[in-house]
Amino acid sequence: MIAREYDVVVIGGGMSGFMASHTLSRKGYKTALISQGDPVCSLSTGCIDVLSRSKDPLSGIRELPDDHPYRLVGEKAVEEALQFFSQIMDKTAIPYTGDPRENREILTPVGTTKTTCLVPRTMAHAQGDAGDYIHVVSFKGLKDFYPSYITSRIANSSFSLFDAKVTSTLSIATRFEEKPFLDEFISWIQDLDTPFGTIALPAVLGMRKPMAVLEELSSKTGRVIFEIPTLPPSIPGMRLFRALKSTLQQAGGHVYWGKPVSSVERRGSRIEAVTLATSGRPSRVYGRAFILASGSFVSGGLFASRTSVQETVFDLPVFVPGPRTDWFNHDFFTPGHAIEKAGILIGPSFRPRESDLENLFVCGSIIAHSEIMKNHCGHGLAIATGCAAANACDKELS
Ligand SMILES: Cc1cc2nc3c(=O)[nH]c(=O)nc-3n(C[C@H](O)[C@H](O)[C@H](O)COP(=O)(O)OP(=O)(O)OC[C@H]3O[C@@H](n4cnc5c(N)ncnc54)[C@H](O)[C@@H]3O)c2cc1C
Repeated sequence: MIAREYDVVVIGGGMSGFMASHTLSRKGYKTALISQGDPVCSLSTGCIDVLSRSKDPLSGIRELPDDHPYRLVGEKAVEEALQFFSQIMDKTAIPYTGDPRENREILTPVGTTKTTCLVPRTMAHAQGDAGDYIHVVSFKGLKDFYPSYITSRIANSSFSLFDAKVTSTLSIATRFEEKPFLDEFISWIQDLDTPFGTIALPAVLGMRKPMAVLEELSSKTGRVIFEIPTLPPSIPGMRLFRALKSTLQQAGGHVYWGKPVSSVERRGSRIEAVTLATSGRPSRVYGRAFILASGSFVSGGLFASRTSVQETVFDLPVFVPGPRTDWFNHDFFTPGHAIEKAGILIGPSFRPRESDLENLFVCGSIIAHSEIMKNHCGHGLAIATGCAAANACDKELS
């Protein structure tokens, strides 16, 4: 058995776990992040939805029910957490833009618009109401992006297709990192016979340095160019999660990837260690405090059986709204679906309310009453509660 010791052990490598770890690393804590796999972030558009109900997403927090986790964090702390997120991203090759106090509408791959708040700078001009002539460029055989739908909804627009010789978003993004491919694409754009205006592309401008690719494209063609997110799995989501992971490692955070927590060691009301399932010798990871950021049903943080909903790491009591028949509403995407409220009830210090565990904090989509789809608050809530749980943990340890 290999044993390692940390100040704080974060379980879950999604947006909330990364933001909790970044917060603690910045405060000087020896931090470990453990994740069994890639987070929901890699399916997302990479845009940070904060709250869609009003033009200023933060003022909308006041109208949420008292039991919503944003109410526990508070408007000011949500704003600070979003600013901290932007500061982290500014140091990466995928900087973000946007004002935490202003929602924006960006184009989607089917030509509709999506309300969001902070966006990768490659999407800075992706507003559906820009008014300029838009020429959409897509790629032959690409199935996750629909240029004809987009142009059918925008009056001044047209589209054309480039043959990248590959058809998936990941392989096209990889090709954009090859200089000869980029040069060929630039000269193809230069030869396009379209009215002068902006050029919209699916979000495939490379995995590692999309902003640099976009700047080269814009400067050599003299056009304003922007990316539109594609259907999941999405390159901007993958870029975002990879950037959060590498910046955490650079900041000194230790990352155990692809390793689920398989058991927990308790002494009275304190957790002492967790054990990781590995193919070789099992590892035991000790911590003074633990943060649970294992996500909701999609990531396996919660598991629903015929009779109950379980929390899969610590077996914490899970709040589920009744009646149980409501969980089986077949239209899962109905805003306000009852099961969206399921999760761990937390108190003001982000500890699980119905547990005696003293050194455990909870953040992200596993928190009860989040209603992420109804409120369009996915990454925003993960960022805000990740920072808030880390700050509560800091108070406890210092
Ligand atoms: C298809 C889709 C698209 C979305 N698009 C957007 C969007 O565009 N904008 C937006 O703001 N939000 C979006 N969301 C919502 C948003 O992605 C999530 O709400 C948010 O990322 C959740 O973060 P999290 O940290 O709570 O959990 P998760 O991202 O679910 O991460 C949990 C992590 O915990 C790990 N884990 C689970 N169990 C264990 C264990 N036993 N041991 C170790 N690790 C474990 C998982 O492997 C995972 O990495 C989208 C959601 C979906 C499903």
